[in-house]
Amino acid sequence: MDTLYFFILVLTVLILAYKRVRLLPAMTIMIVLTVVWTELRHLFYVPSWFRYGNGIVAVTLIGFAIGPLRRLLISDRLFVLFRKILPRISQTEQEALDAGTVWWEGEIFSGRPRWKNLLAYPGPKLSDEERAFIDGPVEELCRMADDWDIASNHRKLPDELWTYIREHRMLGMIIPKEYGGLEFSAQAHSEVVMKLASRNLTAAISVMVPNSLGPGELLLHYGTEEQKQHYLPRLASGEEVPCFALTSPTAGSDAAGMNDTGIVCKQTFEGRETLGLRLNWNKRYITLAPVATLLGLAFKVRDPDHLLGDEVELGITCALIPTGTPGVEIGNRHMPIGAFFMNGPTRGRDVFIPLDWIIGGRERIGQGWRMLMQSLAAGRAISLPATGVAGGKMAALMSGAYARIRKQFDIPIGSFEGVQEPLARIAGRTYRMDAARRLTLVALDQGERPSVLSAILKYQLTEGNRQCIADAMDIHGGKGVITGPGNYLARAWSALPIAITVEGANILTRSLIIFGQGAIRAHPWLLKEMSAARDARPGARKAFDKALFGHIGHVLSNLTRAFMLGVSGGWATRPPVKGPTARYYRQVTRMSAAFAIVSDAVLLSLGGSFKFRENLSGRLADALIHLYLASAVLKRFEDDGRPEEDLPFLAWAMDDSLHTIQESLRGVLGNFPVPGLGRLIKWLVFPLGAPYAGPADRTVRQAAKLLQSECEARDRLVSGVYISDLEDASGKVHSAFHLVLTATRAENAIRNALKEPVTYENYRELVQKAVESGVITEEQATTVRLAQEATRAVVDVDEFTREQIEGHGAVELREAANA
Ligand SMILES: Cc1cc2nc3c(=O)[nH]c(=O)nc-3n(C[C@H](O)[C@H](O)[C@H](O)COP(=O)(O)OP(=O)(O)OC[C@H]3O[C@@H](n4cnc5c(N)ncnc54)[C@H](O)[C@@H]3O)c2cc1C
Repeated sequence: MDTLYFFILVLTVLILAYKRVRLLPAMTIMIVLTVVWTELRHLFYVPSWFRYGNGIVAVTLIGFAIGPLRRLLISDRLFVLFRKILPRISQTEQEALDAGTVWWEGEIFSGRPRWKNLLAYPGPKLSDEERAFIDGPVEELCRMADDWDIASNHRKLPDELWTYIREHRMLGMIIPKEYGGLEFSAQAHSEVVMKLASRNLTAAISVMVPNSLGPGELLLHYGTEEQKQHYLPRLASGEEVPCFALTSPTAGSDAAGMNDTGIVCKQTFEGRETLGLRLNWNKRYITLAPVATLLGLAFKVRDPDHLLGDEVELGITCALIPTGTPGVEIGNRHMPIGAFFMNGPTRGRDVFIPLDWIIGGRERIGQGWRMLMQSLAAGRAISLPATGVAGGKMAALMSGAYARIRKQFDIPIGSFEGVQEPLARIAGRTYRMDAARRLTLVALDQGERPSVLSAILKYQLTEGNRQCIADAMDIHGGKGVITGPGNYLARAWSALPIAITVEGANILTRSLIIFGQGAIRAHPWLLKEMSAARDARPGARKAFDKALFGHIGHVLSNLTRAFMLGVSGGWATRPPVKGPTARYYRQVTRMSAAFAIVSDAVLLSLGGSFKFRENLSGRLADALIHLYLASAVLKRFEDDGRPEEDLPFLAWAMDDSLHTIQESLRGVLGNFPVPGLGRLIKWLVFPLGAPYAGPADRTVRQAAKLLQSECEARDRLVSGVYISDLEDASGKVHSAFHLVLTATRAENAIRNALKEPVTYENYRELVQKAVESGVITEEQATTVRLAQEATRAVVDVDEFTREQIEGHGAVELREAANA
């Protein structure tokens, strides 16, 4: 009988923990259970050790449930210890941590994502005005932007494109209408950048930079009204071309370590003695700097003569400097790989600026880093992710078509399983990247500034682009390698490292920021514990007690949940939808609980030093990233109206994400700082071994097939990119693809009747014979002829004379570099 009681007790604890019942009701239930059993013991024999055990359990439970007693015995002691071991956080780190808000990543860290909340968020939507802008001026700009011409003849964005961009106020997408801007939603902003990037990176970057982190964004949030009135209309109309200079030769990833200074001083300015700053800077890699008229600059302010107050080191500050100001050196260019947008250094020597050139005026001195971090929290989720998705969509569009058009061994190369693998990877990744882009934009348009999610998007979507373009290059073989006007991949390939490097280089973003910041920001209790432990006010101990016991409950619950979900293969949870995606909700819930418990175990074992263990932090980042991506994929499917045709893309994305999460967590546990504990948690989290094997071959075949057919799933996958109807490199592929699909039936008929495959070499003769013998109609014959010619035009690559390659332009560049 005591075995039964023990079983009931354990089961009750598990259910309470699984359901995350609060401490007081949970204790009440346990005590009632104990009392009821004690009454029952009159009827049955209960051994004395068990009765004593019960008593101890009951007393402990009561102790836990009564706050003051709990504090006295436990949390007040831990409070003192916690204060001692709390890692030191620098001011810049703290400002980065304080930046932005927490959104769906908070649900992932909770270990129990509330799917109903996710599904209740609205789907992506553009206003009529935004849609018309994208279908009108943006489409036209794409048409005007000839990639090869820009790269080989101009080596800059041609003047007529700049004029067009200005005329249509494309530099003012984030500026409110009252200042003459377009005031677009984040969704529209992203769509514009995505479409432009799918055509030409030089145009996309030139439009994107003034609309992302820089003078416009900083003025909007922190500028004085006078600064806004002066600059915003000029920025919106393109009268001012802005750039923002943060990076210097000694301060790249560690941008806050800059040596650029602003010394508070007095000087005669416009005929009057003026309190201001004497600036010295040396910045590099600054986009648009060579053509900028307005320089946003970050530097450290010092006040050695105490003209502003007692403090000397006043911190990082941002100012706006017209580039015509005496002492400003600007105009030289760097040559970024693969794109010809303006980028270059700027230096300044003893440049005097009045205090009211500081963004936000004098009271914003020292707040520059906070302002930049707050702006990055949103901005990082828009521009670069949009360029990443554009790359994925173009890779999908062109590779699917090319794999169908290009034949080897007499069949389309896309029929080979070896080629289907990269095709499916491109399709699945692009589907997932776009899902994440769309979901995060919904958060931004709701006013969120999710700093961890924006880091995830920046990293994952630029990295995903790299993988998609690399796969596309492999699929295209020599066609991808030979450059010239007919190559639509080469520039995307060579420009890949740009997005990987800027706005937080990817290695750093993955290894240090995503989990490092996420664990503190998005964890339901950690920041609360840390804040309470740092707090010197009287209520701090009570707040710490609440956070500590909340955290303990969180750990116990996730431990239980991870185990029960592991044993049941995810069946212990109820998905919010029915149908083919229901099982994925179960698995993501399961992995979310696993991620939460593994994160807590790492944090507990390493304390503040976890941020130096970048191998572990990077793997946990991968798990967090894929939990977010998987959530976004499920949400996208619902937003799109559950189109069954898309399921192969969804399945590839989900199976790959689940596999990545599993391998990341197993990687953490296999390298766990406390080996025995790692093994124990691995057993709890994966009690029946590793359940996820990645995308199945059947999914790969189906996804690859969709990319090679004209269907709605493919159209949805690549929606929003520029599809050329011109006789240019990509336009030729689109028309050849359509013709090849249309001609297939006729070609098959010819092959069957004349027992010979149709090739470019024999098509004239075979088509003639087939028409004469009534195998195909004259109309079909025309389609076959057109398809063969169009295919040849795609398969051909560019040729140049030796003089063209070795001649003038190349010599000029070499001489300039040597000079
Ligand atoms: C084309 C281009 C345009 C740019 N535009 C601008 C602009 O408009 N304005 C501006 O201010 N800046 C701009 N930048 C600068 C850009 O933001 C920096 O290049 C970037 O911050 C990285 O600095 P870095 O190149 O000096 O690399 P480094 O800081 O030298 O880093 C080198 C490598 O080390 C890694 N790393 C560094 N620290 C860590 C760590 N703790 N953990 C793990 N890995 C680490 C990085 O991830 C990177 O892979 C631009 C750069 C380029 C190339």
